[in-house]
Amino acid sequence: MRGANTYLESIGTTIFTVMSALANEHKSINLGQGFPDTDGPADVVQAAADALKDGRNQYPPMPGVPELRQAVAAANRRFYGLEIDWAKEVTVTSGATEAITACLMAVLNPGDEVVLIEPLYDTYVPVVRMLGAIPRIVRLAPPHWELPRAELAAAFGPKTKAILFNSPMNPCSKVFTAEELGFIAQLVERHDTYAICDEVYEHLIFDGLKHIPLMTFPGMRDRTMRIGSAGKTFSLTGWKVGYVTAGAALTPLVQKAHQNLTFTTAPNLQRAVAIGLGKDDAYFASLARDLQDRRDQLARGLASVGLSVLPTQGTYFITTDFAPLGFNGDDVAFCRHITEHAGVTAIPVTAFYDGPDAPRHYARFAFCKRPEVLDEAISRLRRHFSR
Ligand code: PMP
Ligand code: GLN
Repeated sequence: MRGANTYLESIGTTIFTVMSALANEHKSINLGQGFPDTDGPADVVQAAADALKDGRNQYPPMPGVPELRQAVAAANRRFYGLEIDWAKEVTVTSGATEAITACLMAVLNPGDEVVLIEPLYDTYVPVVRMLGAIPRIVRLAPPHWELPRAELAAAFGPKTKAILFNSPMNPCSKVFTAEELGFIAQLVERHDTYAICDEVYEHLIFDGLKHIPLMTFPGMRDRTMRIGSAGKTFSLTGWKVGYVTAGAALTPLVQKAHQNLTFTTAPNLQRAVAIGLGKDDAYFASLARDLQDRRDQLARGLASVGLSVLPTQGTYFITTDFAPLGFNGDDVAFCRHITEHAGVTAIPVTAFYDGPDAPRHYARFAFCKRPEVLDEAISRLRRHFSR
């Protein structure tokens, strides 16, 4: 048969699917793919079940049900002081994954350049390339992942159409500082470009740090597409409900991309997420506090086993340097080895790099698991590495 899409033929299956399958095969504790092992809030789940029963099961409005768009606008006001017109500036998508693609589609023409920050989430580069655009990647260096400002400035040029970045950042759990965001905002304005802000972990942030959307910076209101995910905010990753907040000029383009990707998202889930976004501040505070405790538990455990634990300011993930264990092999070999021989699964961090010469001694562990599961994972690693 003749060749199909050459780019897709050249890439592999996502690392999350690969490692979850390996974890299942070896009955390993899966600290790889990021998903909680407990259900989301009972009232939100009940609202989704109830909503199935009241006869609104046909196509919802293409941009999203009004209840959820209103709730997204209200959350923007409550958490960040952003005044958003729900009818003109909010789009509901089938997960943040779709939102990322829709936002890129909204602004890119073939040949445009997109600035990306590495390590990066695994759909960014493939989608940019499939749209015929060109990734311009700036790399952050462990262990502090500071923004290399001169390199970032140099990545912007006449062909730059947008920057796409993620804060709090998967996998390295960095939260961009106000100074770094201010620097990005200046570049975006100076080069007359757009910003696509993957903020799916906006509420999963620790140690009293505050999430600051780039959209709140001067000049950014109408250039920014801000992406959220109910999967992360309500620990319901299988629901795949995402939302994009963008100015009134960009939103119709995001919606035209969405209408050609999925058109709509399950109406009962949208209505339940609207209820979730209306939950009181205590819900959001306890979500972060619980996860912070789990972060501390896993960080202590991994350190006691001999891994070097990098700072973790947000997300579900701890990045570790396994070089101190003296393991003979790269990160892919390490993650496969601990899955098969210790019964614990992690994600090799090179999966989040596109360019050559990525560091090969880091593994990412998810801590969004029950405390007893984290304890068991640590005991297994300790048993294995003390042999
Ligand atoms: N961006 C980042 C950085 C993520 O970690 C995830 C989590 N899977 C997504 C986007 C996708 O979110 P969703 O599950 O809502 O599609
Ligand atoms: N965002 C999740 C992670 O980084 C996985 C999402 C997926 O499996 N596509 O682990």
